[in-house]
Amino acid sequence: MNFKDLNIITPILKAVNNAGYTKATEIQYQTIPHILNGSDVIGCAQTGTGKTASFAIPILQLLDKKPVEKKAIRTLILTPTRELAIQISENFEIYGTYLTLKHLAIFGGVPQGKQIAALNKGVDILIATPGRLLDLMAQGVIKLTQIEILVLDEADRMLDMGFVNDVKKILTKVPVKRQTLFFSATMPAEIRKFSQTILSNPKEINV
Ligand code: AMP
Repeated sequence: MNFKDLNIITPILKAVNNAGYTKATEIQYQTIPHILNGSDVIGCAQTGTGKTASFAIPILQLLDKKPVEKKAIRTLILTPTRELAIQISENFEIYGTYLTLKHLAIFGGVPQGKQIAALNKGVDILIATPGRLLDLMAQGVIKLTQIEILVLDEADRMLDMGFVNDVKKILTKVPVKRQTLFFSATMPAEIRKFSQTILSNPKEINV
């Protein structure tokens, strides 16, 4: 399916064309319409399927369509590793080229100064590993009270890496009224049970 048939707005279509993509991948054409409709989504997909664009593109479109007056973090993407955080950030950079939305990736293992300075300038979309996020929240640098969309990326890996309590703690700070997108390469019973505690009537996509 072509991106045009998914009702993607022109500035994002232009960026997708620049990237050389003509057709949406399976996860993309199955997921994007549900996200644009405001539904929660549970997606079972491996890396390499085009999973990142399947949430990055509709998130950019939803935020762009509904501008807000006060600068605040409106989307939080939780991901287990620094490498994934950077990759997701690169996706937002590409698809958001012609939009004014700001995104930032924060992760541990590097000094906090630059990340804090960038946060203080204002960020619409925050991509974070759980530990660094909690650290900066504890310092009062980050508030999640205006989150409209929450994404859990690679949820199975996040739990395997022992982030379950961190993620639960973060979830208590995010508004209950929100759209939640949950992605995992595998869906064992434990992950499914966890997903049920945070999703509301989700559309399920398996690729
Ligand atoms: P991901 O599964 O998000 O890690 O993406 C895997 C790779 O597929 C990335 O290098 C993307 O740039 C690329 N990609 C994403 N969407 C498309 C598409 N519709 N057509 C071709 N390549 C794509």
